[in-house]
Amino acid sequence: LDQVNSVSPTIAASIIQELQDQRSNLKMIASENYSSLATQLAMGNLLTDKYAEGYPNHRFYAGCDNVDAIESEAAQLAQQLFGADYAYVQPHSGADANLVAFLAILSAKAQKPVLAELGQEDPSKLSREDWNKVREVVHNQRLLSLDYYSGGHLTHGYRHNISSHLFDVYTYSVDPNSGLIDLDQLRQQLHEVKPLILLAGYSAYPRKLNFARMREMADEVGAVLMVDMAHFAGLVAGKVFTGEFDPVPHAHVVTSTTHKTLRGPRGGLVLCKEEFAEWVNKGCPAMLGGPLPHVMAAKAIAFREACRPEFQTYAHKIVENSQALAEACVEEGLNVLTGGTDNHLLLIDVAKTFGLTGRQAESVLRECNITLNRNSLPFDANGPWYTSGLRIGTPATTTLGMGPEEMREIASIIKLVLGNVTAAKTASGKKSLTKYMLDEQILAEARQRVQNLLARHQLYPELNLDLVQ
Ligand code: PLP
Repeated sequence: LDQVNSVSPTIAASIIQELQDQRSNLKMIASENYSSLATQLAMGNLLTDKYAEGYPNHRFYAGCDNVDAIESEAAQLAQQLFGADYAYVQPHSGADANLVAFLAILSAKAQKPVLAELGQEDPSKLSREDWNKVREVVHNQRLLSLDYYSGGHLTHGYRHNISSHLFDVYTYSVDPNSGLIDLDQLRQQLHEVKPLILLAGYSAYPRKLNFARMREMADEVGAVLMVDMAHFAGLVAGKVFTGEFDPVPHAHVVTSTTHKTLRGPRGGLVLCKEEFAEWVNKGCPAMLGGPLPHVMAAKAIAFREACRPEFQTYAHKIVENSQALAEACVEEGLNVLTGGTDNHLLLIDVAKTFGLTGRQAESVLRECNITLNRNSLPFDANGPWYTSGLRIGTPATTTLGMGPEEMREIASIIKLVLGNVTAAKTASGKKSLTKYMLDEQILAEARQRVQNLLARHQLYPELNLDLVQ
């Protein structure tokens, strides 16, 4: 950090400030975690200086021997960790991993047959006219995915995302009464839509999914089953989701991030059956630029950590904690969607119980040093900006070593705060969607109780904050 400080004291200060911030706030954002210092150091070094377009032993640049070793190790560990036929570790993020997967599936299933008809395997050798024939077929494929308000991700066909330009998108929703994905209803929709891809996976759904059943259903209509396990990859690696709930044996293609429950560096990953490997491997040049060797090195470290038995214990504790938190929230009178959770997150309706928007609840809890995010709920009347809900996750607090007792204390603090906050009035006398009022004493009590929890579970105790004067 002294080196950083000598160039930019403001950036050095921000790094230290961020550590202080993360040490003094309870991190309950379901998509965040704390990666190990080994992972962070593998990422922050000279590997960032190397270009390595292509894939191991097949590069468009000279001098890639070390990057070859790094990428091969990361891919081999990912394959071993998840029991996958093939692993591709270049995607820079989860969004990129999904694009690589989409393009691979479109290439293998939509483009290839047209090229065969045209008698030309290499698209770059087609005339403009023939290439437009290919494009017309490729761009008319259907994607059936979980809708955004039911917990699907932006990259699953949301109108403001490029995925909605790539596909003719159809969505499925949770059942309005149970809040659950009803596989019988989905099967019916699948038979009506007959998509090229059935996409499963979520950012905000608290239950596990039966991927064996989804694969059977996809096979009935000849669809490709793609699973985006970005959120729950750590639960798959840690053997919490096994058998029919493990996507890897059942899906044709699985995508993921590496930084959420998996606790690695910020990045993406694609796993697939042999049939798609050739296409997935062409992520660069299909849509990725040069790979990030430093991040692939950090992925290799994180995958190795996740192969250890301790990671399985960690993954089971994440769920034990989210279930303890959900139970305690229910006991405190909070409205927990679907009544609980099977994974690392729970959703809470703050509009029904407290008359607040998700935005107000998020802000007031942050003021009390609990960091979490507001989230749209199924069929949310408050829209995606203000929202009616909170998404609360336990991966980070579990990394800190917290357990069910701490979860009960957190539920009690959340109730203390939300039960005492009131929406402020706007100048015209309407209920504000953003502003709120909370008694100073309640604020002080909540902050003190959060600090008591954090004092017993310090983040990176080995890091010295006094490096920069
Ligand atoms: N897929 C899912 C299900 C996600 O929840 C997310 C991120 O929140 C992504 C993809 C995108 O990941 P990234 O932010 O790394 O692009």
